[in-house]
Amino acid sequence: MDKFGHLICPVCGDPLINKGPSLACRHGHNFDVAGKGYVNLLLAQDKSSREPGDSKDMARARKRFLDRGYYEPLAKSIFVLSSQWLNPEKENMVFLDAGCGDGYYTDSIGRSFTNESYDISIYGMDISREAIRLAAGRNRDIGFFVASLFRIPFANESADFILNAFAPASNEEFSRILKKKGILVSVIPGKDHLFGLKSVLYENPYENDEKGPDLPSFRCADRVRIRYDIRLGSREDIADLLMMTPYYWRTPREGVERLKELSELETPVEFIVSVYK
Ligand SMILES: [Zn+2]
Repeated sequence: MDKFGHLICPVCGDPLINKGPSLACRHGHNFDVAGKGYVNLLLAQDKSSREPGDSKDMARARKRFLDRGYYEPLAKSIFVLSSQWLNPEKENMVFLDAGCGDGYYTDSIGRSFTNESYDISIYGMDISREAIRLAAGRNRDIGFFVASLFRIPFANESADFILNAFAPASNEEFSRILKKKGILVSVIPGKDHLFGLKSVLYENPYENDEKGPDLPSFRCADRVRIRYDIRLGSREDIADLLMMTPYYWRTPREGVERLKELSELETPVEFIVSVYK
């Protein structure tokens, strides 16, 4: 089985053929497969900067934090909810984690599918090359690739399941690539998410606004709220958590200094997982 078998050329839209060290279309557009086993399909014109997306430090902090298992209950819940809405025949399915970061959820959910005997091709994409490099290191059976969410190298109506967790959403691309009976699952932070962290960083922390993605072509079919407390027991974990949040860029220095003095931190985490059709 070719792990890149569903990808199309980002330039001309023709199927990409896996030629071992590279993927190529019949028009001669050629994309090298990196030694780590991922492919870069991001075109120069879709780059907002030289290295778009999460930086090396952010991607690495995220991976270290997620590898500690703090969000494992979320990964399990995403799988359980999704599998209730997916085609029960479990055959010839395509799963795309759109905005997969370091591939934590792609790998975790992918393994759950495999354990439940799904015949499923698994893909993860992100605009950050460093994030995809880390993701490819997790699982060589997954087709990880660098691309923009606003130009997804998938054919029309080719995906059964799109996961969009803590990432920008593209209504046009998601509705184009999703099969008629497919599902789009979105994950956003709930109002209490990381409130314990924010209470240290800010004098007057606000709750999150729970604004969902703008998806006018879809209707919400199901929604669950997941909330639990986590306890970070080391300065390293606290620093990693800060670095993977937007607060890293926005927090006044005094707030960061207060956080640096802590060797443990308790905070609620809260997620809203929505199934769209
Ligand atoms: Zn081409």
